[in-house]
Parts: sequence; C-alpha cells; structure tokens
Amino acid sequence: MSLLSGKKALITGASRGIGRSIAIEFAKNGADVAFTDLQYDDKAISLENELRALGVKAKAYVSDASKFDQAEILINAVIEDFGSIDALVNNAGITRDNLLLRMTENDWDMVININLKSVFNYTKAIQKVMLKQRSGSIINISSVVGIEGNAGQSNYSASKAGIIGFSKSVAQELGSRSIRCNAIAPGFIETEMTSVLPPEIKEGWVKDIPLKRVGLPEDVAKLAVFLASDLSTYITGQVISVCGGLHT
Ligand code: NAD
Repeated sequence: MSLLSGKKALITGASRGIGRSIAIEFAKNGADVAFTDLQYDDKAISLENELRALGVKAKAYVSDASKFDQAEILINAVIEDFGSIDALVNNAGITRDNLLLRMTENDWDMVININLKSVFNYTKAIQKVMLKQRSGSIINISSVVGIEGNAGQSNYSASKAGIIGFSKSVAQELGSRSIRCNAIAPGFIETEMTSVLPPEIKEGWVKDIPLKRVGLPEDVAKLAVFLASDLSTYITGQVISVCGGLHT
C-alpha cells in the first residue's frame, strides 16, 4: 500500500511516541519524511535509519517548536532539502499536570507555548509554501481532553482545545486554496508521556473504554496517514477522535 507515494511530510517532536509512529507509517506508505525534536540523539538517529531502511528520504532536524523564529528557519531548511512539504503534522507536546490550586505560572506557560503556540508557529511558517503549491494537509494533534476537559490538566486541556479552534479557523481561511487542516484527538495512548501514570489510573481508563484496551501510537498514525493522503481530499476542519470509543 503506497497511499503517500511522492508526498513529503514534516512531523514535529517525532523522535519517540506518537510522532515516531506517524513517521514510520508515513514512510511505509511511501512518503519522504522530515522530522524535528529538541535533540539529535540516539532516538533521532535510529528513527532516521529506520525510515531510510523503508526506502524513503528521511532527515532529522533540531528545532524547538515553541520558538517562533526557529519554525520559519526550519521550514526553509526542509524546503531546501526536500523541495516541498505536502503534509505537516504538529505533534510536539508535553504535560505539566497539577490541580489548578498548585499549578504554577511556569506550568501554564510551558504547556501553552509547546502545545499550542508551536501549532501557530509551524502553520504560519508553512502557509506560504502551501499557498504557493495550492495544496497541503495540516494535521494537528489535539486530545480528547481538549473536547471534554480533565481534572488536573487545565493547562493541557486548554492547549488542546485551543488547537481545535485554531484548526477549524485555518480550515476556513485556507480551504479555497485546497489546503486542509484537521485535528486528531487521541484518547489514552501508551507512550512515554502516559508511562508516568499510576497503574490504577490506567486500569480505571481501560474499564471505561468500550474497546477495552489502551490505544497504541499506530492507532493514531493510521488516521494521520489517511488525513495526509488523497483519500481525504474532501475532509477539512474536523476533529477526529482515536480513543477506543471513550469519547462519543
Ligand atoms: P511523548 O512525550 O512520548 O513524545 C513527545 C515528543 O515531543 C518527544 O520526542 C519530545 O522530545 C518532543 N518535544 C517536546 N517538546 C518539544 C519542543 N518544544 N519542540 C520539539 N519537540 C518537542 O508524547 P506522545 O504521547 O507521543 O504525544 C505526542 C502528541 O500526542 C502530543 O501533542 C500529546 O499531547 C498528544 N497526545 C498524546 C496522548 C497520549 O495518551 N499519549 C493523548 C492525546 C494526545
């Protein structure tokens, strides 16, 4: 299956977790993949090698997605190396969970800057490229808690809800140029981000999930492939949950 053959994709924060899985599924479907993270470390090198072994062009870049100026520099570097970008996946994200009573200003600022401002930074920087191409698919990784909220995650939920409003607005602004923008809302996905949760919390979640299992990064990646592909050319401004039925 080569749903993304001839396409070039850029994924932020992809050295591990959901971003890594999206990079691999994209490459399996024939896309050349540029990806970013905060460091060029063993994880980034091993992903680069894994992608190249799948027969596509792949390159890791170091860039802090929360920094406005770095996003523009990064997009220019990717265009120089790859020639174009057909799909952008804004995936980089963090949690700094706490009850509002104990949440610090720094917990708030970090989560908003890395999760939400990053999406603005990259979408703003890439729009020139996609407007010129008159095509493109922007995929923003939100969360079910951006739809429903979650106690102890007011900063994170606000950042993920912000992504949804931003994605719908961008879809309306850029739709006439065949540029699509959608949000994916994962539920509980097993990655390093969720590995810090105590087992009893995880078991509680699984009990409430109709499909009775946690999600895997590949579950999210397969939807990202669909949204980056020409199978979804009439889909924009949507929020699609990947949560085993938890959010209906
Ligand atoms: P993860 O912590 O395993 O991976 C996140 C990656 O982003 C890491 O490689 C990290 O280095 C990178 N990153 C962090 N800050 C960055 C920055 N400023 N610039 C560039 N890269 C940065 O997390 P994950 O579970 O794979 O999550 C990926 C995305 O999916 C996030 O946006 C997260 O909020 C979202 N999400 C995850 C879940 C889940 O259950 N795991 C659920 C809903 C949404």
